[in-house]
Amino acid sequence: MAMTILYPVGSHLYVNLTNQCPCACTFCIRQNGDGAYGSDSLWLEHDPDFNEIKAAFAAWNLADFTELVFCGYGEPTEALEMLTAAAAYAKTLSGCPPIRLNTNGLSDLIHGKKTARLLHGLVDTVSISLNAGTEKEYMAVTRPKWDNAFQAMQEFAVDCKQYVEHVMFTVVDVIPQNEIAAAQEVSDRLGIPLRVRKYDS
Ligand code: SF4
Repeated sequence: MAMTILYPVGSHLYVNLTNQCPCACTFCIRQNGDGAYGSDSLWLEHDPDFNEIKAAFAAWNLADFTELVFCGYGEPTEALEMLTAAAAYAKTLSGCPPIRLNTNGLSDLIHGKKTARLLHGLVDTVSISLNAGTEKEYMAVTRPKWDNAFQAMQEFAVDCKQYVEHVMFTVVDVIPQNEIAAAQEVSDRLGIPLRVRKYDS
């Protein structure tokens, strides 16, 4: 099995730390193939260790990219310790661009503690998948392990505002208009901008 830890997506360099995830989203790209945006397979033999991550970075010039994005074929905060170590390491490298974390926002439930503060000084943007505007639809679409995921995700997002410069919610543009409107209400209530992104299968 391949070990694609870093892969380019346009002007961004994506980081694939783990295939673990506590959700089973109905739209997850992992159902559609083995990679994304022309990458090699993103299924990992194992979660990479720090030496493997350092070796992966050695193959790329970070100055060639406008953003370093922790995303991949799983939930990056499942590998939270490695995420923070990798982000700290990347920031020591010449030309490191701003760092973004794409997350389902369930890190606190995964680790059983508040985790947003661990991103401070390491992550410049946190993009959280809101996925829906109502708890009922969120649970139906995201299918998380926990019954309180919708609330916990919002609490994590609010916490992130204290520790990360840019925080945003996202929904994909294929959900019903009323769900997008409800998602906008959640975003407005929490003071976090909403990005409606194009669904790319
Ligand atoms: S949170 Fe992301 S990786 Fe996990 S199932 Fe949903 S879309 Fe897939």
